[in-house]
Amino acid sequence: MPNPIYDVCVIGSGAAGGIVTKELCEGGAKVILLEAGAEVKPGRFRSHCWPYEMPFRGFRDEKQELFYPPDLKDSIRYEQSDNVGVDRIRVLGGRTVHWNAVVLRYSPADLREQSLNGIETDWPLSYDELAPYYERIEQMIGVCGNDDGIETLPAGRHYLPPLPLRCSEQILRRDIAGMGARVISVRKALLTRDYDNRPACHYCGHCMDGCDVSAIYSTPGSMLPKARRTGNLTLRQNALAREILADRSGLARGVSIIDRATGREEEISARVVVVCCATVETARLLLNSKSATHPDGLANSSGVVGRYLHGHSGSQLRVYLKELQGQAPSNQDGALDQCLVPRWDTKSFRGTYDFQVNFSGYMFPFQAHAVPGYGSAFKRRVREMQPGFLMLGGFCKVTAHPDNRVTVDPNRKDAHGIPIPVVQFRFREMDREIYDAMRTSALSIADRLKGDVTLTPSVEPSGFASHECGTVRMGQDRKTSALNSYCQAHDVKNLFVTDGSTFPTSSEKNPTLTIMALSLRAADYIKERRKRGEL
Ligand SMILES: Cc1cc2nc3c(=O)[nH]c(=O)nc-3n(C[C@H](O)[C@H](O)[C@H](O)COP(=O)(O)OP(=O)(O)OC[C@H]3O[C@@H](n4cnc5c(N)ncnc54)[C@H](O)[C@@H]3O)c2cc1C
Ligand code: SF4
Repeated sequence: MPNPIYDVCVIGSGAAGGIVTKELCEGGAKVILLEAGAEVKPGRFRSHCWPYEMPFRGFRDEKQELFYPPDLKDSIRYEQSDNVGVDRIRVLGGRTVHWNAVVLRYSPADLREQSLNGIETDWPLSYDELAPYYERIEQMIGVCGNDDGIETLPAGRHYLPPLPLRCSEQILRRDIAGMGARVISVRKALLTRDYDNRPACHYCGHCMDGCDVSAIYSTPGSMLPKARRTGNLTLRQNALAREILADRSGLARGVSIIDRATGREEEISARVVVVCCATVETARLLLNSKSATHPDGLANSSGVVGRYLHGHSGSQLRVYLKELQGQAPSNQDGALDQCLVPRWDTKSFRGTYDFQVNFSGYMFPFQAHAVPGYGSAFKRRVREMQPGFLMLGGFCKVTAHPDNRVTVDPNRKDAHGIPIPVVQFRFREMDREIYDAMRTSALSIADRLKGDVTLTPSVEPSGFASHECGTVRMGQDRKTSALNSYCQAHDVKNLFVTDGSTFPTSSEKNPTLTIMALSLRAADYIKERRKRGEL
């Protein structure tokens, strides 16, 4: 029997791939979803393991190791780089299986850095064009929160009830009001009531280890069941895309994959290919897809594929509030961070940072590292401090610079014979100024709070907090960008890329809501062009 030709082949089942797959299946397309990882059923999640159940007490990411095959760690090289790390996962659902789900809209100004600040570039689409997709995505995934009336943090109209502020967060709100900073309920793709056939959160505080009831949004918990119901989905797990194949005219004709379970290579044929492998792996796949018509890699006549790599820099502050110390210790993990300190200096680019609060959870005794001594006095002091726990994680904008990039090393291959990615990244002057401003604010916050400070932000920035963006950027000009505003490759009309690699620039906000909004917009565009017979 000849191999089938699918209408659409989606590569990668994370935040981007999940949305595209569900939308196109519901739109009537026969879709094959290729995912390099395999399903980890919620029953296997280690969310509820105690530290003593793990060989290194959880300090070596034992809870998440199910999602990251061991060979992946070594199949990347950092060259002439500052302290950054990229997050490459291999599991059905991508990072949505253990993300923290803070979902913040970009503001109109975030998309216009060149026009408003004379830096970087403008996005090829406006906030008004993106807003209807934000609105639809928020309803599809279920987002709790409020409209706080903040110009730099536009809100949706259909939020689920917000998460309440806990004691330490109320104290934070009181004590930093004088700095002009606000503490608002976080906006999170987390259900505060039953929604869309998923149960409400039961506040166990293990979102980043995997939610076993799908109260937090994930592709396998929310989008794949809908895609399956259409009868249009073919899911291939353990299907590692090695190369996107082009025909003589330069159009994409399919994907060459390696089955990770058998080691067998095969070809998948499709009329449209949508790449959703996340920033670094997407650039790697395009750069590894060379042909006579695309000698420098697919969709790369501009030479920008791999360039403009960026993502957040950040660091943490930990304080044990005196006011709360000595109370009976209790588990307040809740839904991890329940509030947010949004950007408050909106005039200067140095103010492009925000703080997410308490996402590392109350229950783990971080303070034990800082308390001197041993024995019963030590234990008493550790217990006494615990109810005062407050942590702030600063997330800072990093600018998109052409020399920060991903290339591939043809001489070094991974376990499947595919050239590995090489990351080169240096923080630029502006990145350091923003980071320093965040650090100064964190220290002023520490001064205002009466408590024992056990951790302050490091002097040197580090990146990327799993928020990598920018290696296949979109833009108006095909000479300086790889994609148009619908995430369609300028060079290859049946090739789309919809993950964070598409971002021309970033803000202080977490990227995933925008990734999903762009994916939804691209899916609408593909549906419409298919109807017209253009794809
Ligand atoms: C602990 C944690 C907390 C986070 N918290 C937040 C948050 O609060 N807010 C937020 O906005 N973001 C957060 N993120 C980031 C967020 O998860 C990512 O931005 C988002 O998942 C990116 O979506 P994606 O589809 O581009 O990539 P991913 O979700 O990473 O999915 C990519 C998929 O592609 C597959 N793949 C890669 N290469 C290939 C290939 N060659 N062939 C086939 N398949 C391939 C991978 O296996 C993976 O499944 C967090 C991430 C982590 C890890
Ligand atoms: S806190 Fe809520 S969303 Fe997070 S893992 Fe527990 S039940 Fe799931």
